[in-house]
Amino acid sequence: MDKGFLSRQQFPALYQVLSKAGYEVIGPTVKDGAIVFVPLAGFEQLPTGWQEQVSPGHYQLEQTAGQRCFYWNTGPQALKPWLFKPEQHLWQAEQTAAGLCFRQTPEQAQPRAFIGLRGCDLAALNIHDQHFLNGVLPDPYYQAQRQQLFIVAVNCARSADTCFCVSTSDGPAATVGFDILLDELETGFLVASGSDQGEVIIQQLPLAKAQTKQLSEAKQQLQAATYQQRVMPDEQQLLKLVDRLDHPQWQDVAERCLACGNCTLVCPTCFCSKQESHSDVKGQQAEQVRLWDSCFSEQHSYIVGKVFRPEISQRYRQWLTHKLATWQQQFERSGCVGCGRCISWCPVGIDLIEEAQALLQGEADDD
Ligand code: SF4
Ligand code: SF4
Ligand code: SF4
Repeated sequence: MDKGFLSRQQFPALYQVLSKAGYEVIGPTVKDGAIVFVPLAGFEQLPTGWQEQVSPGHYQLEQTAGQRCFYWNTGPQALKPWLFKPEQHLWQAEQTAAGLCFRQTPEQAQPRAFIGLRGCDLAALNIHDQHFLNGVLPDPYYQAQRQQLFIVAVNCARSADTCFCVSTSDGPAATVGFDILLDELETGFLVASGSDQGEVIIQQLPLAKAQTKQLSEAKQQLQAATYQQRVMPDEQQLLKLVDRLDHPQWQDVAERCLACGNCTLVCPTCFCSKQESHSDVKGQQAEQVRLWDSCFSEQHSYIVGKVFRPEISQRYRQWLTHKLATWQQQFERSGCVGCGRCISWCPVGIDLIEEAQALLQGEADDD
């Protein structure tokens, strides 16, 4: 993949070329104390100089004098709410003179270019593609958004204290699934295309030939991001979690867990949902709505008159064993891409690496 160089002063040209090509440009900005993805009016909205400090139960942004726009790692969300919406209107029913009339709610999709996605975000997108698109009946709402997606990914130049994508082989480099790939350097950006659409866009940018020194700077900062990582037990070890269903650690974590579901909401791979039927007071019109759900809610395990997981220990066990072990049977990989969001956004700082390690402790003696 040949890389060109776009100086920092010329970087706004990327916004202009994407806009001219008809894309709504969605990118990161600072809002309400976090980095969130919003429609951008220009690149001046990017989080220039901002970095995050994260640890279990903690996320705080700090402004530095730096000029980099992507020197942070993750905010609470990236792509997930744009493709798998927290509230999706599915269909409506109306009582008419001719009887009940059903209508599917059309999905409004437009070409969107997302800028600033990381390797872990693209790995999560790949999992969601498998779940929402590769079944017998693809999800038409997800599919409509997905087909219009253009991705400008960024290789991470640092990793946050909660990142562990090296353990899951999903980062810190973005390797697949992007249209354009950036490496941000002090003076500008290395730019490469990853698709025909990406090539069309970068052909319109005022790129210079990348210098050997710039390529080596990009390589070094990627290596630095790699060395800062925490370690999750490997997938073979994680499969053993399902042999630990009576481990006392489930009770230990249940005494700290609030069952708030934050970890599942911020997780870029979690896809559980529920449906609600809403009707008007006259009983003439009704609507079916799909909402994000969480395995931490009691009602999520309600089946034919019974809640099957009344205890928080059972719900945490469901989440961790599915995410890290049984997910492997469904998708041939763990459901964790190592982004660390569930750790920093857990209000009581429960750390899934520590929990997995505690649950697997002594496994060699037991097997
Ligand atoms: S389980 Fe946690 S670290 Fe893993 S992908 Fe989900 S939010 Fe990220
Ligand atoms: S988990 Fe890896 S790819 Fe994701 S933000 Fe952190 S360093 Fe980057
Ligand atoms: S582990 Fe943390 S974020 Fe998840 S449900 Fe429990 S308290 Fe909430």
